[in-house]
Amino acid sequence: MSTSTSNAPVIQLRDLAKAYQTGEVEVKAVCGVTLEIQRGEFVAVMGASGSGKSTLMNIVGCLDQPTSGNYLLDGVGIAALDRKQLAILRNKKLGFVFQSFNLLARTTALENVELPMFYSHPLIPLRTRRDRALQALEKVGLGDRVRHHPSQLSGGQQQRIAVARALVNQPELVLADEPTGNLDSRTSIEIMGLFQELNESGITIIMVTHELDIAAYCKRIVVMRDGLIIGDHRNENRRQAREERATLDQAEQKARLA
Ligand code: ADP
Ligand code: MG
Repeated sequence: MSTSTSNAPVIQLRDLAKAYQTGEVEVKAVCGVTLEIQRGEFVAVMGASGSGKSTLMNIVGCLDQPTSGNYLLDGVGIAALDRKQLAILRNKKLGFVFQSFNLLARTTALENVELPMFYSHPLIPLRTRRDRALQALEKVGLGDRVRHHPSQLSGGQQQRIAVARALVNQPELVLADEPTGNLDSRTSIEIMGLFQELNESGITIIMVTHELDIAAYCKRIVVMRDGLIIGDHRNENRRQAREERATLDQAEQKARLA
């Protein structure tokens, strides 16, 4: 599944900083972050609102450039790349999942998932793109909903489409910013279960959350405050979504029979 040949960490950040200039005021959103993430990790980036998590993720996702510091993605310095090269890199190596799903409303699940390939692989035959999108939807358990529009699906199902869309180009790394922020707790467990499965299959995942009980599904927890990393530890006692789901299902079945 991996598209990389190098043994370098997937992410290497060195003294990374980002300041926003709004009128007279300068906001230091990220103030010198040094961080390495290896292939196969599943990292939560935690912290209160305003601590710089999204700013950091946007830089890691090559959606934004740092003001200073170094960023190597798969061993390649991104500072030297122009917009077009960044877009190619993003399409090839990264998949994104957002809090608000960001699906096109008047478009089927299948077409939503096909969309990234329209930009990244315009020369691949339509038929092949369609097959890949179908495979991605099957992988997230939505093989029977491919003709549905987002409004005909639950929040959890919509987020699954977004995950399928993130997977369709077989990315090295999936970046998720508050992916369970709009979901109830049961559906959140479902999405975290999907992430745990993907991670077991070898995909590296970095997920922003401000909720400790969601970070608890990850293998490593990085904590930010005021643009700095103030904590970074292995999560020894991590939650297992699959087991929790099974327990919930059993309890429900019992309640129904009683
Ligand atoms: P988090 O995702 O942890 O809530 P953000 O990275 O969104 O934090 O924001 C960090 C800080 O940077 C906040 O003070 C926020 O107001 C500021 N900020 C974020 N984006 C911008 C922007 N585009 N322009 C100006 N300030 C911004
Ligand atoms: Mg944020």
